[in-house]
Amino acid sequence: MPVPGPPFASASRVPLADLPDARSRARGAFLGLALGDALGATVEFLTPGEIRAAHGTHREIVGGGWLHLRPGRVTDDTEMSLCIARAIDAAGGWDLRLVADRLVAWMRAGPVDVGSTVRKGLRRYLLEGTLSGPPSDGDGGNGAAMRIVPVALATLGDGALLEEWAVAQARLTHHHPLSDAATVHVGELVHLGVAGRGKPRLRRATDALVARVPAFAFEPYRGLATGYVVDTLQTVLHAFFTTSGFEECLVATVNRGGDADTTGAIAGAVAGAYYGEEALPQRWLRRLDRTVRAEIVRLSDRLVALSPLGRGGAS
Ligand code: MN
Ligand code: MN
Repeated sequence: MPVPGPPFASASRVPLADLPDARSRARGAFLGLALGDALGATVEFLTPGEIRAAHGTHREIVGGGWLHLRPGRVTDDTEMSLCIARAIDAAGGWDLRLVADRLVAWMRAGPVDVGSTVRKGLRRYLLEGTLSGPPSDGDGGNGAAMRIVPVALATLGDGALLEEWAVAQARLTHHHPLSDAATVHVGELVHLGVAGRGKPRLRRATDALVARVPAFAFEPYRGLATGYVVDTLQTVLHAFFTTSGFEECLVATVNRGGDADTTGAIAGAVAGAYYGEEALPQRWLRRLDRTVRAEIVRLSDRLVALSPLGRGGAS
């Protein structure tokens, strides 16, 4: 299924907000990802009706869910993002083999959850040493898009670099044109949000994606929130563009059920970049695993410092 390629309407030539503001929005994106993961995991694989029966409107980080998580525990979405962030930190830049090695070490350590496509891709890397599998119709899951935040932060100020790294990291485990397109687009929205652009600008970027790849059209919203990357992205885009705050966006997203930790994580990344760190609910941040929260803050700052924006010295 060929997807028309870029031109990727990148944030790269957009004049950037000042660096302290970008740093705060970058933390918002990465912390937002973790909050959406922790919030959504409680209702992962439930239907909206089941969520209503069990929680009314689900809006608190309470743990549980099919993984029996303690409150504030994150899952593979956040953990894989942290692996990539640590690899960029350790290399002082991009080293795809180090990214793959960190992901393999994470998988071998027995994480609470690993997606089947991720497992397949990392096993291939282990056995063959290849950094990409062949294109596969089965690779259209959301597992690459959900871990794009560290790449977006480390490439702030350069949309072409974002696209290059985004697709490279995606194909470690997912080689599918719709996964590629969704992964790059989530990164692009994070770039625009961190740059302080308004919602009409983000909407134009999304409209351009839908024009190139009509499968992502989300109006009217079809109500599917599965792990298929098209359903996932439609759910996130619909929630983001029909709400006007971070919490409202995440609550709207995860109450769709389905792959709720991952739709929540991606919505949290986009909304966190757009609304900024100050918009994250304190009661959610207090619940978030303390070690994860501290590491995310440290790595967010580090990734921004390593990015073209950070190295540009605009302070
Ligand atoms: Mn997960
Ligand atoms: Mn998930």
